[in-house]
Amino acid sequence: MERPRFQGEDMTREIIRKDPAYAATANMPDYAREAATFTWQAARARLSGLPGGRLNIAHEALDRHLATPAADRIALRWIARDGTRRDFTYRALVAETARFAGVLRALGVARGERVYSLLGRVPELYVAALGTLKAGSVFCPMFSAFGPEPIQARMEIGGARVLVTSQALYRKKVAPVRDRLPELKDVLLIDGDGSIEGTRDLAALMAAAPAEFPAEPMAPEDMALLHFTSGTTGRPKGAVHVHEAVVAHHVTGVLALDLRPDDVFWCTADPGWVTGTSYGIVAPLTVGATMIVDQAEYDAERWYRILEEEKVTVWYTAPTAIRMLMKAGAEMAKARDLSHLRFMASVGEPLNPEAVVWSDVVFGRPFHDNWWQTETGGIMIANYASMDVKPGSMGKPLPGIVAGIVEASAAGVREVTRAGAIGELALRPGWPSMMRAYLHEEARYDKCFSCGWYLTGDLALRDEDGYYWFVGRADDVIKSSGHLIGPFEVESALMEHPAVAEVGVIGIPDETAGEIVKAYVALKPGHRESEDLRLDLLGHARRRLGPAVAPKEIVFRPALPRTRSGKIMRRLLKARELGLPEGDLSTLEGDEA
Ligand code: ATP
Ligand code: MG
Repeated sequence: MERPRFQGEDMTREIIRKDPAYAATANMPDYAREAATFTWQAARARLSGLPGGRLNIAHEALDRHLATPAADRIALRWIARDGTRRDFTYRALVAETARFAGVLRALGVARGERVYSLLGRVPELYVAALGTLKAGSVFCPMFSAFGPEPIQARMEIGGARVLVTSQALYRKKVAPVRDRLPELKDVLLIDGDGSIEGTRDLAALMAAAPAEFPAEPMAPEDMALLHFTSGTTGRPKGAVHVHEAVVAHHVTGVLALDLRPDDVFWCTADPGWVTGTSYGIVAPLTVGATMIVDQAEYDAERWYRILEEEKVTVWYTAPTAIRMLMKAGAEMAKARDLSHLRFMASVGEPLNPEAVVWSDVVFGRPFHDNWWQTETGGIMIANYASMDVKPGSMGKPLPGIVAGIVEASAAGVREVTRAGAIGELALRPGWPSMMRAYLHEEARYDKCFSCGWYLTGDLALRDEDGYYWFVGRADDVIKSSGHLIGPFEVESALMEHPAVAEVGVIGIPDETAGEIVKAYVALKPGHRESEDLRLDLLGHARRRLGPAVAPKEIVFRPALPRTRSGKIMRRLLKARELGLPEGDLSTLEGDEA
């Protein structure tokens, strides 16, 4: 298969050099050195653990800091929707989570039983997460904007024993399905006042619980977290993660996000998605950093204000948000003092090279793209702090991670080592945060493994320098007249056009070509759809990509359908195009209208 060009490779600033001032910082992790000497064994030793080879994520995130200078540092700074702040030191969070664990114990909740949350980003969510882990129960966060059906489905799969939520969310979303959840014994309301039958008042229970609760000593393989995938390609899967995952959360936080104890870290993801748990709760706390939690949803003005006022040093966000910031314009960023920002990273979707170059110009720092999945529990491939950033590339496998490009055939799975060859991105299992199961879906889980590889379902290639480039999801890749076309490549080319805010590309069946490329385009403010603009975009794409790869059809849409975790749902564009059933829409957020 012909090696495609990648936009990032021929951008004017082909490789964005790491900031020399930053490179001089003594403790920046050195990729080559780390990769040469890294072992998971040694990584475990970076954490404290509990006697007898036991451990507990909550102990690593909170309790062990009591004996260190971090004890009185701010662990969590919460910014309410109205802008008021509430700070929790490590010491305070240790006590709050102890009380929560005590509440579970008093209710007779056993180790391994499932505690769910349905909450916006409020402090109680973070206390419930870590308190549940402390008690040895399993935490499963749900995104608060889910409707009753997805909530019921997730609680059924996991056999929810306890739910932590609010009066309003309970009334609207849980009460209608409660009688279908026989295993749900206790509903704890963060604002409970005894007015809703069948629920309990969490604050009163917490007040009655002791402020001490030593973290349950767990076996490394004990289940800790249940996390549902984004549902981009179909029905969400419940990935099971264990306590040992904390080793990977910690180490990848240090290596891929460059987290340090004196950092102010802002992960914009909601804990309803795995990024918001692995890096929005666990990783920064294991490091002893201060994490920012904003209750509100995306808003460009507000985000820049938070970055400036909180003096955020490390920022972890997603391409969909970055594209929205680009849409809002660079002036808004330039009006702020963002000089504290040291490291910026992105995950969740391919990050268009255009966005990397934009950020390098606007912030004086490039976004560092990294790649992982709910299943992998932590970052696997990253533009490491000390590496040159290649715009459009996901970076290199982290130390301790063995990645490969593989091809499946009847004989099994074979690694393709030739640089530039496109194949499925695969990983050698064995890192601590790898999922241990898709809960109650053994066959679906087994299908992910072959010949000693974990198959990710994503297509990628590795270049001569060992950088990995995302091509597309295996389901989304387009085969047109003998070419294998990744939607990301086409989307990135169109993103370079000044009128374009967002693009989704799919293949539609064609008698002669097999498939042809069709692009759905949303425009930036100030641009109006017209036949001239459509032709201009087609021309631009042909110049950038050549006629074989450029879209044959371009249509305008006010917005694109997207998952609540911010991913373009190409399968929905395709189903609609072909008049097929729309499939599982439980995680759909924005739509085309
Ligand atoms: P589902 O598995 O239910 O279809 P999902 O795969 O979107 O949903 P997540 O686990 O949240 O669920 O997302 C992981 C996927 O997101 C990856 O497999 C990949 O397709 C995409 N992704 C994540 N980071 C990147 C990145 N840096 N570049 C390109 N794609 C990425
Ligand atoms: Mg997936």
